[in-house]
Amino acid sequence: MLGLMQDWPLVVHKIIDHAALYHGDREIVSRTVEGPIHRTNYRKVQGRARRVAKALDRFGIKVGDRIGTLAWNTHRHIETWYGITGIGAIYHTLNPRLFPEQLIYIASHAEDRVLFFDTSFANLVAEIAPKLPSIKLYVALTDRANLPKAEIPNLVAYEDFIAEPADDFTWKDFDENTACGLCYTSGTTGNPKGVLYSHRSNTLHALVASQADAQGVRGVDSVLPVVPMFHANAWALAFVGPMMGAKLVLPGPKLDGESVYELLDTEKVTMTAAVPTVWLMLLQYLEQTGKMLPYLDRVLIGGSACPRSMIEIFERKYEVEVVHAWGMTEMSPLGTLGTLKAGMDTLPYEEQLSVKLKQGHPPFSVEMKIVDDEDRELPRDGKAFGRLKVRGPAVAKAYFKGEGESAFDSEDWFDTGDVATLDTDGYMTITDRAKDVIKSGGEWISSIEIENVAVGHPAVAEAAVIGVAHPKWDERPLLIVVLKPGQKATKDEILKYLSGKIAKWWMPDDVAFVDEIPHTATGKIQKIALRQRFGSYRLPTAAE
Ligand code: AMP
Repeated sequence: MLGLMQDWPLVVHKIIDHAALYHGDREIVSRTVEGPIHRTNYRKVQGRARRVAKALDRFGIKVGDRIGTLAWNTHRHIETWYGITGIGAIYHTLNPRLFPEQLIYIASHAEDRVLFFDTSFANLVAEIAPKLPSIKLYVALTDRANLPKAEIPNLVAYEDFIAEPADDFTWKDFDENTACGLCYTSGTTGNPKGVLYSHRSNTLHALVASQADAQGVRGVDSVLPVVPMFHANAWALAFVGPMMGAKLVLPGPKLDGESVYELLDTEKVTMTAAVPTVWLMLLQYLEQTGKMLPYLDRVLIGGSACPRSMIEIFERKYEVEVVHAWGMTEMSPLGTLGTLKAGMDTLPYEEQLSVKLKQGHPPFSVEMKIVDDEDRELPRDGKAFGRLKVRGPAVAKAYFKGEGESAFDSEDWFDTGDVATLDTDGYMTITDRAKDVIKSGGEWISSIEIENVAVGHPAVAEAAVIGVAHPKWDERPLLIVVLKPGQKATKDEILKYLSGKIAKWWMPDDVAFVDEIPHTATGKIQKIALRQRFGSYRLPTAAE
């Protein structure tokens, strides 16, 4: 017997309709690409999203067509997303930090038909446009006065594109499983792979993400997603914000410490989210200026491991609660969040810190397990570590056009490529990406854990650990360090600092000082590039 409840499709345009109707005056504040701060609200954004939908519909865009966006977080980008999805087309976020050839590969693979782009990327667009025959229209996210001069075919200003159609468009009807968004993963092996979200998965994921023990966003919050919309859906905040009626503060192109601070302060931001490198810049700015964070309540940190020292400074010095989160593009992206569980609030702070340093526990709807090389499940005892596998209604079951099949098994478990432990309290801790694990004398060393401790040294700005060939042990860890501007530290001082904080046999065999550590387009340390650079590095211990 079936239940007798309504078949109300979980489609994302219902989110912006809800916001317009019940939180219509709630503000959306953007730092525009042109420079000035722009203020609008959910009612106006919904109206303009309908105009985008109507204009695309007139242009001939159909259900299932892919529409590229190459843009920072602004109100126009949000309008574009809702307009695209409201006619059953698919927003396809392109990461502007990728190389032109990668963008050409991705936009061609996706067969994008229209590209919405910020004027700051005009030269890049002019460069790639001749190689993108599927794109029939280029919409610059600006007005006519600021239209770029670069040579771009079939170019129109966004404000002109949406000027004529009225905002009376009725969203199209389609099934909730219709594709809604497309985002390619960085693809450290092989080509980038497309993750194709559905309306249902995006809506469910936003409901899950907004829970109190997840992002915990409320209508009274002022939310600053520093994490870009092109990085795994801005971690759901472009859906969670309107769903809850929270104020949205969008940073546009400026993600440096001073600019982020300015928005945190003037817009009285209570909740924000980004990768650790963004927070490094903010904390350095605060340290230099002596400014404080009186309005900020909590900060979500994920995308790569959050160092212990970062959690401690945010919480102790600035009284801002840190929620450490882990996720993946393939998971929409939230997988775990490190909120404390019952009874943990009375633990000594150092012990609380150790819990917060873990990647967290999964919210309802995320299932996870760890397995060995033979795919046998390993115990959840906090000690055994193995490949982390996940499944759930907002987890990918395949990549676009059938790439990368081997990551999915017959029971829908997706192999994350991360190596992790699961403990008896339900917390997951990442030891490494499987390909970054250092194998020394048959035992695994966690590069993440050593990096975490190393950045706690007062002179260290950033640290990366890679395995380097060793005649006796196969591999031994090499610590690569960037010092803070004007700071000094020797190899011995850094090793002394690590001593007692990590297992003795994990102690790096050497420390290399560099000016810069390369990052991927989503802000992760590029270990492949480091391994290439230090490929023939000879450790001082190699001769022993
Ligand atoms: P992406 O799909 O680009 O967001 O990358 C996902 C990958 O980033 C994960 O598989 C992890 O390897 C890494 N990652 C994300 N969050 C964390 C975290 N909190 N700690 C350690 N690694 C993380």
